[in-house]
Amino acid sequence: MAPRSASIHIDIDSPETLLRFWGFHGIGVDLDRFYELAMSRALSLLRQCGVQATFFCVGAELERSSVAAAMIQQASREGHEIANHTYSHPFALSTLSADDVRAEVAACSAVIRRLTGTSPVGFRAPGYQVTARVLQVLEDLGMEYDSSAFWSVLHPAMRLYRRFLSGRPAAGEFGEASSGLPRDIYYPEREDWTREGEPRPLVEVPLPRTRLFGLPFYSNFHLATGGLYRALSVALMSQPHLVYLVHLVEFTDLSDGLPTQLGVHPNARTETAVKLHALRSTILSIMTRYRIVTSAQAVRDFKAGSRGSVPHAVAVVNANG
Ligand SMILES: [Zn+2]
Repeated sequence: MAPRSASIHIDIDSPETLLRFWGFHGIGVDLDRFYELAMSRALSLLRQCGVQATFFCVGAELERSSVAAAMIQQASREGHEIANHTYSHPFALSTLSADDVRAEVAACSAVIRRLTGTSPVGFRAPGYQVTARVLQVLEDLGMEYDSSAFWSVLHPAMRLYRRFLSGRPAAGEFGEASSGLPRDIYYPEREDWTREGEPRPLVEVPLPRTRLFGLPFYSNFHLATGGLYRALSVALMSQPHLVYLVHLVEFTDLSDGLPTQLGVHPNARTETAVKLHALRSTILSIMTRYRIVTSAQAVRDFKAGSRGSVPHAVAVVNANG
């Protein structure tokens, strides 16, 4: 039986994009400074742990910040996977026409290809908003996987929290996933992508949730709930493939010169050193039971059937932005 594998995903959305998610528009951020600080800390942590991660990038942000572009080139040279998170991060991706979705995905892939020399094979939708149509576009463009299937019991609560805090219309909503989502990598059915279907070129890599109450399993939630819950939930995870989702903003805090409005984002006020310590300990404890690989590798293993007959077991998931 092949060992269980896990992938670390880092969404590198800028603070500007996160602020749009929380309903704040037009707030400028020094992107070069943000990417310099956050990416150097992220790459250093991954080096310390000896693992390779998958970075999901917004094409327009790589074009606007030469530092972001250089950091992604460095990440690629260090063996990390660079994946597609659209060109302009439209939160309402699912409402766009197929042509507009295609343009968003293709433009981001072009930026990544120009910077790294390699076309990305993985995709995540802004706000986890995918539909069968979006997945079809990804498949037509030759992408190998999507990783937007995401549900936890906290989704409805987060929606309310966001509305109350910002007091203004939010930029988008979460996707249409529900509590019945598969927990392992799966072939999405063509009509209803939230169900497992026949083999096809594109696979879905769902984000995890805990078996117990469907609680979230991702970095930002773990930072808010503390070390005990974090250790317990890592110990209880037993699915064949586990994704651990991190946002690049978690490698910074407000003392790094980020806009004060970002204080609405969970854990933005927590000191970076505290967050780095928690993240490192989580990655190391995942590594005691899972082999860490990029998602591109996990997907190829899945398609090749080389993971052995790992029984479907426990699991978990989740996030924001
Ligand atoms: Zn995002």
